[in-house]
Amino acid sequence: MARLYDSRKRILVTGGAGFIGSHLIDRLLEQGHEVLCVDNLFTGTKRNLDHLHNHARFELMRHDVTFPLYVEVDEIYNLACPASPVHYQHDPVQTTKTSVHGAINILGLAKRLKAKVFQASTSEVYGDPSVHPQPEDYWGNVNPVGPRSCYDEGKRCAETLFFDYHRQHGLEIKVARIFNTYGPRMHHADGRVVSNFIVQALQGDPITIYGDGSQTRSFCYVDDLVEGFIRLMETGPETTGPINLGNPGEFTMLELAEKILSMTGSRSKLEFLELPQDDPKQRQPDITRAKEALGWEPKVQLEEGLRQTIDYFKHRLPELTAA
Ligand code: NAD
Ligand code: UDP
Ligand code: UDP
Repeated sequence: MARLYDSRKRILVTGGAGFIGSHLIDRLLEQGHEVLCVDNLFTGTKRNLDHLHNHARFELMRHDVTFPLYVEVDEIYNLACPASPVHYQHDPVQTTKTSVHGAINILGLAKRLKAKVFQASTSEVYGDPSVHPQPEDYWGNVNPVGPRSCYDEGKRCAETLFFDYHRQHGLEIKVARIFNTYGPRMHHADGRVVSNFIVQALQGDPITIYGDGSQTRSFCYVDDLVEGFIRLMETGPETTGPINLGNPGEFTMLELAEKILSMTGSRSKLEFLELPQDDPKQRQPDITRAKEALGWEPKVQLEEGLRQTIDYFKHRLPELTAA
C-alpha cells in the first residue's frame, strides 16, 4: 500500500502499555509515525496510555503475543514481557512462553512483512556475571534451573531465535541488551528497587534492603534508553547487535537508598531482609559498542532522573494505590 507520507511509518510496539513501551510510543508519535500497541495488560496498564486516548495516529490492541498476530506494519519493537522479578516469577511458565513463543510469532510476522524487528533483551542474559563490566561478547553465567531462569533463559532463547531468523531467513534484526532502567510510569508495586525505595520513602515505610545492600546496579533513565532504541533501529542492516544499552554509573543498593532518603527528606528507617536466590552481585554495562555504532551514551545523571521519578510518584501515588 502506498503511504501518504514517505517518512511516516506504521510501527508495532508489543508491550507498549508497560513502563518503557509507553515512553517509546510517545517518542514515535512525536516523530510523526503511526503506532499500533499490542499488549495483554498483564503488567502494563491503559493508564500509561491515557493521554493518547484520542490520538489519531495511535491504536491499542489487547492481545497476547504467545498467540499468532496478523497485522500490517513497517517496523516492529518487541517489548512484551514482564520485567520485574516479582511479576516474571508470578507465572514462570507464561514468562518463558511470552519470550519464546512471543519471539517466534513476532519473527514470523516480521518475516512475512519483511519488516525490521527490534528485540528488548536484557542484561540478565549475563546472569550473575564473572566479568565486570559486561561487554556483549561475554557469554554470561546463568543458572538454567533457578527462580530467575524463566526470564533469563527465555530472553536468551529469544536472542537465539532472532539471530537464527537473521541467518536463516535474512531478517533485519536489532537486539538491545537493556540494563536496569527507571523513570515515571514504573509500576508502583512490581518490586523493582527504584520504585520500591521511592514509594517506601514517600509513605514513611521502612526501606527494604535485600542482603547487606552492597550489591551494585547501574541505572539508566528511560528517556536516554528510548533514544538508544531509536538510534539502533535507524542503523543499516549490518548492525544487528546484540548491543548493551544502559548507564555505566554504578551504585550499591545502600547508596541508592541513602540518595532517595535525602532527596525525599524521608525519615524512613532501613530494614535489612534476606537476599533473593541468584541475585546478581554486580552489574555494569560496557557501552563501548553503543558509543561507536550509535554515537549514543546516557545524558541524564542519577540524581536528575530520580528527581523526575520522585515527582511522578509524589503526584500519582494516591491514584495508583487507590486503583
Ligand atoms: P513492563 O512490565 O512495564 O512492560 C511489559 C509489558 O509487556 C506490559 O505492558 C505487559 O502487560 C506486556 N506483556 C507481558 N506479557 C505479554 C504477553 N504475553 N503479550 C502481550 N503483552 C505482554 O516492563 P518494562 O520495564 O517496560 O520492560 C519492557 C521490556 O524491556 C521487557 O521486554 C523487559 O524484559 C525489557 N527490559 C526492561 C528492563 C528494565 O529495567 N525496565 C531491563 C531489561 C530489559
Ligand atoms: N506468524 C504470525 N503472524 C504472521 C506470520 C506468522 O503470528 O503474520 C506466526 C505463525 O503462527 C508461525 C510463527 O509466526 O507459527 C512463525 O512463522 P514462520 O513463518 O517463521 O514459521 P512457520 O509458519 O513455518 O511455522
Ligand atoms: N532490591 C532491594 N530492595 C528492594 C528491591 C530490590 O534491595 O526492595 C535489590 C535486589 O535484591 C537487587 C537490586 O535491588 O539486588 C535490583 O533489583 P531489581 O528487582 O530492581 O532488578 P534486578 O535484580 O532484576 O536487577
